[in-house]
Amino acid sequence: MNKLLKGCLSPDQEEVRLAALAAYEILDTPEEAAFDELVEVAAYICDAPIAVINFVDRHRQWFKAVKGLGVRETPLDVSICAHAIMQPGLFIVPDTTRDPRFAQNPLVTGEPHLRFYAGALLESHDGQPLGTLCVLDYKPRTLSERQAFALQALANQVMAHMELMLAHRQQVTLIRDLDAARKEMTHWASTDSLTGLLNRRAFEQRLSQELALVKRGARPGALMMLDLDDFKRINDNFGHHAGDDAIVCFADACREVFRQADVVGRWGGEEFIILLPSTELGEAGHAAERLHQSLSREPIARSGSEPLTVTASIGLCALTPDGELDDTLRNLDALLYQAKRKGRNCTVCEVIEQDDHD
Ligand code: GH3
Ligand code: MG
Ligand code: MG
Repeated sequence: MNKLLKGCLSPDQEEVRLAALAAYEILDTPEEAAFDELVEVAAYICDAPIAVINFVDRHRQWFKAVKGLGVRETPLDVSICAHAIMQPGLFIVPDTTRDPRFAQNPLVTGEPHLRFYAGALLESHDGQPLGTLCVLDYKPRTLSERQAFALQALANQVMAHMELMLAHRQQVTLIRDLDAARKEMTHWASTDSLTGLLNRRAFEQRLSQELALVKRGARPGALMMLDLDDFKRINDNFGHHAGDDAIVCFADACREVFRQADVVGRWGGEEFIILLPSTELGEAGHAAERLHQSLSREPIARSGSEPLTVTASIGLCALTPDGELDDTLRNLDALLYQAKRKGRNCTVCEVIEQDDHD
């Protein structure tokens, strides 16, 4: 910490001040016209060859905008501004060579021989001193009352601009966070938490969309209703946890067997439903067969216990333009029931009447 600041601020206070400065994210940013114009106006109004918007950092003062000096930062031990931020309002040094605080300052005794300084405090909205808008001259002098007023008013404008930039950044962050939260909410509102598959509501929505497309001429699809066989027995014999694991494994098997374009949903409990867009019944029947085989080939691994085999019964029908959704789902349920009656672990597909004239 700079010696001067050390005398005026406790280390804790200085940390709070530096945190307030950091929050504006202004240090080491490129030059910006809005700030450059404010130093031009300050120099013009105060009739001074040098004007600077500077911020007092931990070990340096850094210039956001500067007119008449060839540098963008200097060490704090030669800083007049570090003195200026320790008091409210304007800090004026009419002749640096007559002020014991600055008479030995190398910027006063050597190049560029600064003799006059007037700095208006840049203060954060919560009262933290951050830096100054200052004007300097090579000769001793002072400011008129009007110039002093204008310099402070310009300093207030510097801060008003920085507050707007800060508010804008905070708003952008807020909008981004809100957007992410909205996406997450949408995801969870449409996802079954155990399997990560679409839940019933989301599946019904997707199915209605597909039926609308089919009614407008898209290729008919296929619809499958699946129910795990004797699942009660799995729960009773191996426990509810093993039952849950089996449901998750079954969902994974569906993801593997079906295509990316197929839509798999958890209809409820141990029932699942699959939409195969633009798919003929024969093709869908092959996919159902692949699922039966996959389930029999890969029993569900359970840590420390015998793996268990899960089978499913499947009803399969076409999603055609002439059917209504309720009828189609009722039909599908009846086909699934037939598969159960046939002895389970099989698929029953609806029979499409062939046109005799073909
Ligand atoms: P069926 O072959 O006729 O379908 O026999 P089932 O035993 O599978 O049929 P039933 O409908 O009588 O039982 C379904 C069981 O599935 C009852 C229920 O406790 C269990 N179940 C439903 N959802 C879950 C779940 O999320 N986790 C677990 N572990 N079990 C579930
Ligand atoms: Mg069931
Ligand atoms: Mg069942």
